[in-house]
Amino acid sequence: MQTFIAGKRRSGTSGEEFAVANPATGETLATDVLAGPEDVEEAVAAARAAFAEWSRATAAERSEAMLRWADQVQARAEEFARAESRNAGKPIKLTRGFDVPGTIDNIRFFAGAARNLEGRAAGEYSGEHTSVIRREPIGVVGSVAPWNYPLQMAAWKVLPAVAAGNTIVLKPSELTPLTSVMFAEAAREAGIPDGVVNIVTGTGPVAGQALLTHPDVAMVSFTGSTAVGRRVAAQAAGLVKRVHLELGGKAPFVVFDDADPEAAARGAVAGALINAGQDCTAATRAYVQRPLYEAFVARVAELMDGVRLGPVDDPDTDMGSLISFRQRDKVAGMVEDARRAGATVVRGGRIPDGPLGRAAYYEPTLITGAAQDSAVVQQEIFGPVLVCLPFDTDDDALRLANDTPYGLAASAWTTDVYRAGRASREIQAGCVWINDHIPIISEMPHGGYKSSGFGKDMSAYSFDEYTNVKHVMTDITGARHRSWHDVVFTGR
Ligand code: NAD
Repeated sequence: MQTFIAGKRRSGTSGEEFAVANPATGETLATDVLAGPEDVEEAVAAARAAFAEWSRATAAERSEAMLRWADQVQARAEEFARAESRNAGKPIKLTRGFDVPGTIDNIRFFAGAARNLEGRAAGEYSGEHTSVIRREPIGVVGSVAPWNYPLQMAAWKVLPAVAAGNTIVLKPSELTPLTSVMFAEAAREAGIPDGVVNIVTGTGPVAGQALLTHPDVAMVSFTGSTAVGRRVAAQAAGLVKRVHLELGGKAPFVVFDDADPEAAARGAVAGALINAGQDCTAATRAYVQRPLYEAFVARVAELMDGVRLGPVDDPDTDMGSLISFRQRDKVAGMVEDARRAGATVVRGGRIPDGPLGRAAYYEPTLITGAAQDSAVVQQEIFGPVLVCLPFDTDDDALRLANDTPYGLAASAWTTDVYRAGRASREIQAGCVWINDHIPIISEMPHGGYKSSGFGKDMSAYSFDEYTNVKHVMTDITGARHRSWHDVVFTGR
C-alpha cells in the first residue's frame, strides 16, 4: 500500500516492515513493507515507459489532465487534510488552510504554465540561419522529499516535472508517505497515464540511494537537510546528473527601530511557530534594534503564552507535535546546550506536562542572550524555537543576518523605504519578505542561496530545472558552399 508504481498501490519488497505513525498520539496509521532497490527498478522502468507518450502529449492535453487532477484533490480535500494532519502531527487548521489549498493552487498554476512553456527567441543571429530554442523534457526525474510538508513537497517536486513532459519517481520520507500516495492516485483518477507519477516509500539509504543513482534517472531533485544534500550532490557529480537541491534554512528576522512593533511581534510568533517550527523558512533568529528590543521580547513571550497546543484534530489547536520523539529530543538537546552556555530561556524550553508530553510535543520557546556563533544561532533547530538578539546599527543587522551558512529566506521589518530597499538587496537569501514572513505563492520561486541549495521550486522558474534547452539552427541560404566553409577550404 505504500508504493504506487505504474498506477497501482502495493507493498514494497525490501523485507523491512515499517509502521507509519501519528506523532501526536503514537497511533499506528499503516504498517507495510518498505520499498527497496527492486521496487525502484520497477518504478523507474514504469516512468521510462510512460515518457514517450507523456512527453509527446500536447501542452493542452497535459494541462487539461492536470486541471482534472486539481479537481480530484479538491473533491477529496478534507480526506487529504485529515491524512496530512494525522501523519505529520499538524493541526487540522494548518492542513485545511495551507497545505491542501496550497497544493490545489499549485496544480492549477502548473496546468496553466504547461501551456506557456516556450523558448525565449527565434532569429537570424548569424544572418544565414534561423535559430530556434526548444525546451524539452529531460526524461525520468528522481526526487526525494522530506517529512515536514509531505503533500506540498510532493507537489513542488512532481508538478513542474510533469507539466514540462517528464515522468517522475518520488521517494517521500518513510515517516510521511500517506498523502504522496494519495496525490499520485488522484493523478491516475484524473486520467494522467500510468507510470507518469510513481511513488516509492522506503528509507533514504536504501530506496533513496537506489533512485538517485539509477542510470535511467536523468535528473535528481532533492529537498531535505544540507548534510544529506551534500552527499546527493557529490553522487550526482560523479554520475554527471543534473541536480536540484532545496536544503536547510536559518531565516533571520530583522526588526528596525521604525518598524510597527506589534506587527513585528505577531509576525515573529507566527513565522517561528508555523508547523511547530519545522519549516525551512521559519523565522529562527530575530535581530531587533536596541530601542525596541526589550518590549519586543516581552510581547513575543506574551503572544507565545497564548498559543494553544492540543490534539491535532481539534480545530482550535494552534500547534501540533513535532514529527518524532527523535526530532523533539534533538530540539530539546539544542535548547539545553544553549541554556548551559549561558543563554536565557524566556519561554518554553520544555516538554509539556500531561498527555501531550507523552507524544512528540515541545513548548513554544523563546531564547535570548545566545552568542552569535552558538549552535542555536548558526544551526537549523527545526522546532518551535525563536532566538532574539539586539543590534545597534543597520550595518550590524545586515552583517548578522548574513552570518550563517544558510540563505533560504529572511525578512526585514521597517517603515522606511530606503532601509527596506537596502535589506532586500543585501540579505543573501532566495526570498526576502518586507514586513511579513512566511507567505508563498505559486507564481513566485522558492529556493536557496549558499548552503540552502540551488534551483527553484514553484513558478515558471522551476522549468529551468526540469527542461533541457536545445538550440536548433537551420540554414536559410540554400547555398552549397557556405561562407564559413572558407575557413576550412575554398571549395575550388
Ligand atoms: P533529511 O535530509 O534527513 O531527509 C530528506 C529525505 O532524504 C528523506 O526522504 C530521506 O529518507 C532521504 N535521504 C536520507 N538519506 C539519504 C541518502 N543517503 N540518499 C538519498 N536519500 C536520502 O531531511 P528531513 O529531516 O526529512 O527534512 C528536514 C530538512 O529538510 C530540513 O533541513 C529542512 O530545512 C529541509 N527542507 C528544505 C526545504 C527547502 O525548500 N529548502 C523544504 C522543506 C524541508
